[in-house]
Amino acid sequence: MINIQQNRLLELSNRFETPLYVYDADIIRNRYRELIGKIPYTRLKLFYAMKANFNPAILRLLEKEGANIDAVSPGDVHLALRCGFSKERILFTANKITDEEMHEVHSLGVLFNIGSLLRLEKYGATYPGSNICLRFNPGIEAGENVKVQTGGEASKFGISMRKVEEAKRIVEKHNLKVIGLHEHTGSGIPEAVQMMLGMKKLITLVDRKIFPDLEFVDFGGGFKAPYLPDEQRIDYSEFGNETTKLMEEVSQNYGKELNLYFEPGKFLVAESGVLLVKVTTLKNAGGKKIVGVNSGFPQLIRPMFYGAYHHILNLSNIDGEKQVYDVVGNICESGDCFAVDRELSEVREGDILAILNAGAYCYSMGSVYNLRPMPAEVMVDGDDFNGGNIKIVSKGLSSKELVDSIFRSEIN
Ligand code: PLP
Repeated sequence: MINIQQNRLLELSNRFETPLYVYDADIIRNRYRELIGKIPYTRLKLFYAMKANFNPAILRLLEKEGANIDAVSPGDVHLALRCGFSKERILFTANKITDEEMHEVHSLGVLFNIGSLLRLEKYGATYPGSNICLRFNPGIEAGENVKVQTGGEASKFGISMRKVEEAKRIVEKHNLKVIGLHEHTGSGIPEAVQMMLGMKKLITLVDRKIFPDLEFVDFGGGFKAPYLPDEQRIDYSEFGNETTKLMEEVSQNYGKELNLYFEPGKFLVAESGVLLVKVTTLKNAGGKKIVGVNSGFPQLIRPMFYGAYHHILNLSNIDGEKQVYDVVGNICESGDCFAVDRELSEVREGDILAILNAGAYCYSMGSVYNLRPMPAEVMVDGDDFNGGNIKIVSKGLSSKELVDSIFRSEIN
């Protein structure tokens, strides 16, 4: 969890006001290096799943670390390019795209990862002779919540492995060159063995040598980050060794050293983030103590969307007597709740609460529902708190500025 000390977070909350997202740069760097270090296969490349957090400071940090990018929309591709990633370092996973999006991303020169036969046909007919990656569905269901399991038979993602011959016919018809095979099983996969199941399914296609021009296999994301306070981070050493062995065998069988790609999102950034919120109301009702704060689910949706647990600390009264509270948001929806029956140090009006592990799929899933602008974001890099290493990485709009932006985009 975040390394930044409680008093520093409190100072940030004063300096920038709340709600405020704070990211710890060291955690992101450490997780990136840790994952690279756990998988000794020499031809390994990590593609950061920027859907987890598209903040430009995070993208630039990972660019400097040598990461590549897993992009899922034209916007992702444009932003990654502007943050310094060359087109060769970006893989575009095309999910339910329109023809216009296909043309737009193609013009940017990045490799397409195609996960439907219909799109494969269209891409091949429009851009014959291109290099492509094909996304297959491993038919394995895994992930910390049904909403983030992408690999099942009935899933909307990927070409069914049973349709591989059909895919091959389209590839040959348009003279496409399949240089990569991809699968992604799900997010926050609780045990590494479940990741291995999906990987081995994809490997069967490599072993059958259906596509003779392969340069890489891409096993997607799914590396788990710990969310519960006493949860240990999974040690991926054994998984890394096993994967290396698997890749060496596969490469030998294929007759060529294949590159290995993973697309981690959550693992790299989840623990780096915290959302600081202020207590605005306290209420006793129906035998419950209800704490109201100046943020809500549009600014951090995971508890409401997935029933996800985010640990919460009362930074203003860290040693106070423990009591049990519901922590609710400022949005006109009764489901707008960050925590139910949660033990916190005694909460008073004006206290600053820290919602932890808010680095992945929090800001990036945000919206301005109820016309509450998204918070500002700052990144803390290193220890020298007052030495200029706090970057304001996105400025929150005021309510008036948000409304101005609505008027600006109105077509008269
Ligand atoms: N790759 C693909 C294709 C995905 O759909 C996702 C998440 O949805 C990821 C990578 C990143 O997953 P995670 O953040 O769990 O590592």
